[in-house]
Amino acid sequence: MNYDCLIVGAGPGGIFSAYELTQKAPGMKVAIFELGSPLSGRHCPIDGEKIKSCIGCKTCAIMNGFGGAGAFSDGKYNITNDFGGSLYEYIGRRRAIELMEYVDSINTSHGGAGTKMYSTAGNSFKTKCIQNKLTLLDASVRHLGTDINYVVLENLYNELKDKVDFYFNTPVEKIKKNEHGYTLFTKKGEFCGDKCIISVGRSGSKWMESVCADLDIPTNSSRVDIGVRVEIPAVIFEHITSELYESKIVYRTEKFEDRVRTFCMNPHGIVVNENTNGIVTVNGHSFEDPEKKTENTNFALLVAKHFSEPFKDSNGYGENIARLSNMLGGGVIVQRFGDLERGRRSTRQRIEENTVRPTLSATPGDLSLVLPKRILDGIIEMIYALDKIAPGMANDDTLLYGVEVKFYNMEVELDENLQTRHEGLYVIGDGSGVTHSLSHASASGVYVADIIASDFNKA
Ligand SMILES: Cc1cc2nc3c(=O)[nH]c(=O)nc-3n(C[C@H](O)[C@H](O)[C@H](O)COP(=O)(O)OP(=O)(O)OC[C@H]3O[C@@H](n4cnc5c(N)ncnc54)[C@H](O)[C@@H]3O)c2cc1C
Repeated sequence: MNYDCLIVGAGPGGIFSAYELTQKAPGMKVAIFELGSPLSGRHCPIDGEKIKSCIGCKTCAIMNGFGGAGAFSDGKYNITNDFGGSLYEYIGRRRAIELMEYVDSINTSHGGAGTKMYSTAGNSFKTKCIQNKLTLLDASVRHLGTDINYVVLENLYNELKDKVDFYFNTPVEKIKKNEHGYTLFTKKGEFCGDKCIISVGRSGSKWMESVCADLDIPTNSSRVDIGVRVEIPAVIFEHITSELYESKIVYRTEKFEDRVRTFCMNPHGIVVNENTNGIVTVNGHSFEDPEKKTENTNFALLVAKHFSEPFKDSNGYGENIARLSNMLGGGVIVQRFGDLERGRRSTRQRIEENTVRPTLSATPGDLSLVLPKRILDGIIEMIYALDKIAPGMANDDTLLYGVEVKFYNMEVELDENLQTRHEGLYVIGDGSGVTHSLSHASASGVYVADIIASDFNKA
């Protein structure tokens, strides 16, 4: 089978590449290969009754399939260059913001119109943060919510399905250069294309490494973020979340001058398990639907760890820490902040008596046996710093779930067109190491599709 453009991965990066190609070069023959299922076929077996925790399915319905890792996410599209990736370093700050705004317009025209856009601009809370040694990062955030995010994806799929060939449950095993472009090898056969966009996200990171090794594409890997997910009564952060929804607050620790930051805030949300390559870590969701809202808010506190020579396996370091929590707790561990401060484990009884009701059934335990001291000290310092802008944060009953790890894909060497050293082979989204978010991954897809469409229209 021959195509003008092959896309590997149907996450936001792949979807927005395909969408843009159909808009800008409708004559192009495009195919998407996705190792997971269509959106309607993505079902995690955890039902809370018969199956309570991750059973390590061969293909994870949460991470793989149409919509990628973002399909069941909270659908927070942050429009900013301050976090979420370094796309601006390749394409310029203005262009990056324009593309993220364009992605937002597509989301709103495909079902997201009624959702709210929050902004930090001109917010008095920023001053309060500075006065307490905290920095609030600038951003606008469209909060689709898990439910509307799903509707938007459904609408995008319905629009694309007759214009693009989708190959689901079709992992690409190998990519080879041919005379005209690239050949993809799959169990369903070989597929050729003049151009190829790889957008395999974080779950495809190991495969991406093998592609880079085979095609001799240089890479670099040096960062991992490690921490916990905090769960508190929603009222404690209400004055912040009602105005900003998602606030990214950064704190520089006094002891080690490490950067600790809040990440992925879910007002009135739930804490969930996440499975990355068989390792269970923690994450969070929230819903637009008032019926699904809880009385708690959760967010991550992460410490950024940068490694220098000779150590190169930053993700391996994060994985091993997460493995330790899996070893001790059989999955995610939960601990009361008061227990952590008193140097004792949380027990089932203490969790049952806690005033903050956990939204995830995790194993009560001791996070100090899992997290390195430097990271734990940073998190504790940050909790006390946040207590000054949100009194109650450092209460004994605040729940900490561990561990949360933010893995960063190795960075693939790319030029300003997000093209590898091989002409016509592009790497976008989280799999490139350039982006770490829905809006940046989607924007990178639009950017590359514009370049490919323009070449096609000129030819
Ligand atoms: C629970 C959760 C919540 C999140 N919430 C948010 C949020 O609110 N806001 C935000 O900005 N970000 C969020 N993120 C991160 C966000 O989902 C990612 O940044 C984004 O999905 C990256 O898009 P992508 O297209 O690069 O990769 P992905 O979404 O990971 O998609 C890659 C796709 O490629 C497929 N694939 C992998 N290897 C192969 C192969 N060999 N052959 C064929 N297909 C392959 C995978 O199955 C996957 O479907 C969340 C992530 C998770 C897990």
